[in-house]
Amino acid sequence: MNIILIGPPGAGKGTQARHLVETRGMIQLSTGDMLREAKASGTEMGKRVAEVMARGDLVTDEIVIGLIRERIEGKPGGGFIFDGFPRTLAQADALGELLAATGQRLDAAVELEVDDDELVARITARSTCGNCGEVYNDITRPQPEDGKCSTCGASDFQRRADDNEDSLRNRLMEYYKKTSPLIGYYHAKGLLRKVDGLGEISAVQAAIADVLDKA
Ligand code: AMP
Repeated sequence: MNIILIGPPGAGKGTQARHLVETRGMIQLSTGDMLREAKASGTEMGKRVAEVMARGDLVTDEIVIGLIRERIEGKPGGGFIFDGFPRTLAQADALGELLAATGQRLDAAVELEVDDDELVARITARSTCGNCGEVYNDITRPQPEDGKCSTCGASDFQRRADDNEDSLRNRLMEYYKKTSPLIGYYHAKGLLRKVDGLGEISAVQAAIADVLDKA
């Protein structure tokens, strides 16, 4: 089964994708994580995208489609969760073609519905473990008092460079202008499934599980 998680920044795509990896053995493909890795390891491409990402603009379709192609090609078994990809109609078309070329298809596009005020509150409070990627939130899930990640024990909590208010405003605008049209696109294909992303993490997990079990 292959699914997309669609939703604005802070909707909980990464958190939900990680849960699906743990519970269903699926493979999370996050273009945001891939781009941050390229930036951290100082590759030519990483240097080119750093400023674009810091501003909250979208990286070119060509770059992100290339990243996804590398991960999909030669893996006909699938089981992918696309997290933060596609973000434009061109990327959505490319994804359909890439999956078809490996004899696969998309089973569902799950939209996480949240409101903007909640997003700002979530994003400005969020941090992640630099070692394993576990997500924390100052209000709902604070970092453990002993300073060690509850999943892997590392003490390397990080806040994303683009989790500030200016960049966030721009990321939200990019989402509404370029990514939200995908909701109509997948609706027309009969693949759209809406989930309330505002509840407790466990309630959202259950709602997604329900959608996947019916897909
Ligand atoms: P994310 O971790 O998904 O919030 O992505 C962080 C940043 O990486 C975004 O604000 C964009 O600058 C870039 N990015 C990630 N995925 C894509 C994509 N599919 N298309 C274009 N830019 C992307």
